[in-house]
Amino acid sequence: MNEAFGIPKDKLSKLEEIIDSAGRIAVLSHMNPDGDAVGSCAAVASFLSEVRGKDVTVVLPNAPGAPLDFITKRIPKEKLLIHGEDPEAAVKAIGEADAIFVLDLNRLDRVSGEEDALRSAKAPKVLIDHHLGPEVEAFDLVFSKAEVSSACELIFQILMEIVGDAKKLPPTCAYALMCGMTTDSNNFANSVFPSTLRMASALLEAGVDRDEIVESVFNSYRINRIRLLGHMLDNCLQTTPEGAAWMILTQEIKERFDFRDGETEGFVNIPLTSKDIRLSLFLTEEDDRFRVSVRSRKGTSAREIASRFFHGGGHENASGGRLLIPEDIPSKSDAGAYVEKATKECLK
Ligand code: 5GP
Ligand code: MN
Repeated sequence: MNEAFGIPKDKLSKLEEIIDSAGRIAVLSHMNPDGDAVGSCAAVASFLSEVRGKDVTVVLPNAPGAPLDFITKRIPKEKLLIHGEDPEAAVKAIGEADAIFVLDLNRLDRVSGEEDALRSAKAPKVLIDHHLGPEVEAFDLVFSKAEVSSACELIFQILMEIVGDAKKLPPTCAYALMCGMTTDSNNFANSVFPSTLRMASALLEAGVDRDEIVESVFNSYRINRIRLLGHMLDNCLQTTPEGAAWMILTQEIKERFDFRDGETEGFVNIPLTSKDIRLSLFLTEEDDRFRVSVRSRKGTSAREIASRFFHGGGHENASGGRLLIPEDIPSKSDAGAYVEKATKECLK
């Protein structure tokens, strides 16, 4: 399997140098961390601490939702800092690190509140990511590849170049890599490359229990989430003749269904199971804004609408961003009209 993934040798040597000369390492990922973000952090932290004996701290901007607990709990509690809960400790860990790994994001502003600490940190910064257009100038070493399912897949490829065999990965590392790949590919529905299946095969052979991961990701929600989904589809789904669909989760509905973070994961994909829809948006009301998730069918760009209308970006068919009040719309009740106009512009 060595050399099969085309990771440049000079980058691997530089990576080894950075790891060798570091005692304390900080591992970071993006705001509203998803399975790939948490899986990437858990995998890299496991490898660097268990195989390389480093003192590793994972720093996330906000806490992963409860549905991701099965991965989050693979990071030792005392080694996980949440910037939103303890900003001083998070900034200190970044400032004191001898090396910083940034995973599953392409622009530093995606780490939200830790951005200044990250930009001003003196330690070498390593980016491992699968989004287009990485902010290369902010890093000392960049591993960036869009032709993979997930950041976890690219991390797997790098680790295979280093250790040569998935069976040599610590169980936590192997498990976390499979988690991130499974969630980002939506259980092998999107962004599956030959290398993705080779990774899955190697990790299965190494003993990862994929059934447990699938149960944890897709079949472990609270019943409220199913009722909320029913409500959203029945009462909130809007569609246009051009093939757009959107739903808006308001504060009022959140309260009615005792909504908890992470419970709408996957809702945005559902309209795309209709042949009449090629662009789907899901908006979640937050304090002074809406968080926006966008998905599209091949041939329609989710990234275009996210970057043109929602201050965001991401992948061609899976993107995200935000809708700001009052910058974008005067009040929350104008969100639907704004989304309708944006989809009309993009589906012309
Ligand atoms: P989700 O809809 O699952 O929150 O996000 C889907 C994808 O869109 C993420 O994997 C990420 O690549 C991208 N994304 C989400 N929010 C943002 C954002 O605010 N800015 C950028 N550049 N990308 C985002
Ligand atoms: Mn990802």
